[in-house]
Amino acid sequence: MKTLTSILFVLLILLAIAFSNRWWVLTHAMALVGTPELLDAQDEPGGIWFDDYYTIFRIDESTYAIGETLYWQANFNYLILGEDHAILFDAGPGVRDIRPVVRSITDLPYTFIPSHLHYDHVGNGIEFDRVALLDLPYLRNRTVNGKLSLNLYEHLGVSEGYEEPTLSIDEWWAPGSTVDLGDRSIRVLHTAGHTLNSVTLVDETAGYAFTGDFFVPGTLLEMVPYGGMGDYLEGVQTLLEFTDADTRLFGAHRDLLAEEGQTGIPETNWQDLEETRQALLDIQAGELSGRGIFPVIYTINDNIALWANPPWLQEWSKSNLTEPR
Ligand SMILES: [Zn+2]
Repeated sequence: MKTLTSILFVLLILLAIAFSNRWWVLTHAMALVGTPELLDAQDEPGGIWFDDYYTIFRIDESTYAIGETLYWQANFNYLILGEDHAILFDAGPGVRDIRPVVRSITDLPYTFIPSHLHYDHVGNGIEFDRVALLDLPYLRNRTVNGKLSLNLYEHLGVSEGYEEPTLSIDEWWAPGSTVDLGDRSIRVLHTAGHTLNSVTLVDETAGYAFTGDFFVPGTLLEMVPYGGMGDYLEGVQTLLEFTDADTRLFGAHRDLLAEEGQTGIPETNWQDLEETRQALLDIQAGELSGRGIFPVIYTINDNIALWANPPWLQEWSKSNLTEPR
């Protein structure tokens, strides 16, 4: 009898998640788990410890990854240096202040841009001299005197006890535009799908793409508020246009579900991206099915899986910019 009650209870929760306020249920259920403790430090071959939290990985003399490998999501932030100016792409959840790490690498002025507005990328509470966001009308329209307050579902920080921050925005970078850092030009791409506001930065000369959570080794998440299958497909197609077979793609997290002992920068390649495009087309055509109910997990290749809404909740049309789906 007790077992039956438990099963009914779980079924009820699953139904609530699937059909009504599933995002409210999920984010607040995570909050019940509490703020996760830091992991133990492990050897980080190729990385140099900045302190007992941050690790610095040198990609080349003007490109660095700043790892937060003790944080349970193993975040990676990227510092892109030009002759005159630099970009800091992501600032983690703000467990520690990333600014001294940046200053240990360069004296250049830099602009911070989060890959998207989830709490584990905006550096909650850390104030940067210059902040940029992707120039999307729905974000600009909400900005008052240069200040943008994030909402629950685009930030999701409630799941780890972070309040939604207000960002001071100095620059709006248009989708498709380039940012000139001196001798280095960085392409700004709108790659939605994980969120509405996800940004990918591309250095076409060096052959690098910095993809945030939009494209990571391991698990791509579409089944989050404001995620969307049509957006994902469009984002992948956009990124394919500005990259080629030799492009290295640097993501914002190590594979959360992989066995322990991962090292190095979370990196994928163009083949992974191309196979993801094909998989999305196959899912849309009903020719590729996943396993599970929520999320539905689609295996794309040995490196990549997509956690998606079930087919009846998948949205293949253009973004609805007002409410989470
Ligand atoms: Zn993330």
